Amino acid sequence: MRVTNLPRDDKTNGWYAILPDHGPPNVLTGDQQADWVVVGAGFAGLGAARRLGELRPNDKVALVEAQRIGRNASGRNSGFIIDLPHNIEMDDPERDFRQMRLNRTAIAWLSEIVQNHQIQCQWSVRGKVHAAATASGVEALDAYCAGLDMLGERYERWNEARATQYLGTAHFHDAVWTPENILMQPAALVRGLAATMPANVTVYEDSPVEAFDNGPTKTLTTAHGSLKTPHVILATNGWTPAFGYMTQHFVVIFTYASLTRPLTEAEQADLGGEGDWGVIPATMGGTTMRYTQDKRLLIRKGVRYTPDGYSHDAQRRGIYQGHIKTFRERFPMLPDVTFEHSWGGAMCMTRNHAPKFGVLDDGVWSAVCQNGVGAAKGTIQGRAVAELAVGEDSEIVSDMLKFDEPVKLPPRWLTGIAARYQIAKAELFAGRDA
Ligand SMILES: Cc1cc2nc3c(=O)[nH]c(=O)nc-3n(C[C@H](O)[C@H](O)[C@H](O)COP(=O)(O)OP(=O)(O)OC[C@H]3O[C@@H](n4cnc5c(N)ncnc54)[C@H](O)[C@@H]3O)c2cc1C
Repeated sequence: MRVTNLPRDDKTNGWYAILPDHGPPNVLTGDQQADWVVVGAGFAGLGAARRLGELRPNDKVALVEAQRIGRNASGRNSGFIIDLPHNIEMDDPERDFRQMRLNRTAIAWLSEIVQNHQIQCQWSVRGKVHAAATASGVEALDAYCAGLDMLGERYERWNEARATQYLGTAHFHDAVWTPENILMQPAALVRGLAATMPANVTVYEDSPVEAFDNGPTKTLTTAHGSLKTPHVILATNGWTPAFGYMTQHFVVIFTYASLTRPLTEAEQADLGGEGDWGVIPATMGGTTMRYTQDKRLLIRKGVRYTPDGYSHDAQRRGIYQGHIKTFRERFPMLPDVTFEHSWGGAMCMTRNHAPKFGVLDDGVWSAVCQNGVGAAKGTIQGRAVAELAVGEDSEIVSDMLKFDEPVKLPPRWLTGIAARYQIAKAELFAGRDA
């Protein structure tokens, strides 16, 4: 079959742009064979390829990516590797305990890789701050703390003075700090992961799979070559339907981020605070923020239903104006600081927030869809799918297999209306948290 819907991430990703050039891509050319082919080099595909390489050191593993690694969602996110569930399910704590086990296994694994290979990605064990500037935000923090109490998780509740002391900005009245979240530079991390694969893994970039022949021996064809293999793992996020699977289960939405230049020493002093940090909004439609180790500020704000999976310039320009306004409100002490980069990125969502994990077909597996929070979840899904595929009996495989299957969506026109309504409602409700 032809794979017609190909990824089209643009070149605006600031995290990627500020990294040094990493040379020409290794493009797939000629007719090749591999024991395993992993398609997609985001967190999920990188996790799957690495684990296959570790578990089957004598097998040939190919990791095939449509774009340069780091241009994808995994390289353009806000850089939180989150240990806790985003929304704590008071009625299903078992699901939350399972998700935390999985996320923490992912964090421990990534941490080991980063340390062993000295990957320079601003890895920072600074936790995360959930912060509120509105009464509804404070209510959401109350509910979040009740959930953390139920799970027996450690946290600190901060008043306005403590939040201001930590962050520099005095925008927030109330905050909750949790300790185990990791902050990082996402493009640097995913590029570092790809560059340090086991020796039996070959990474191909700028090699979109344009045709997929799913016989007993599978053939994946790109513009300049092909791969024959008995085993395929799809780690293709919202593009998985293009391979003929899950054609009515995923919604692709875009969210947007802007990154400043590094602050000068005088500006760092004007901002104040206690070092690098990451802020998650207390309410769903709110603004995420980072202050990085290299002294840049990031705003992540705005969500749009984007069924064609492409960030349109006009849409991005409108959202960018909102980023500037939000920045000026929150950082009045930095009037001369401007954004250097501004970009959008795709998130794959299911109606019941379930991932698509496991067997898709004879010899085809998937590690797909993290519902907008994919650094830890994608990594562990990728690792688990490799273990499942080689028949390894592990706790993470059995944990992953307990998630529900994604449920089917209504027809596309109705899904579009519902998605736009939910996004507008969340943004309206967020008020000054937005
Ligand atoms: C702005 C933004 C902020 C975010 N912030 C956070 C955050 O702070 N923390 C967090 O945990 N999550 C965050 N997310 C979500 C997170 O980035 C994603 O959930 C995660 O990166 C998904 O990983 P993945 O490996 O499944 O998919 P992707 O990173 O999308 O990788 C899939 C890959 O498949 C490739 N592919 C698809 N089709 C083909 C084909 N035909 N041939 C070859 N290759 C193909 C694509 O090019 C892509 O590289 C954010 C997302 C965005 C956009």
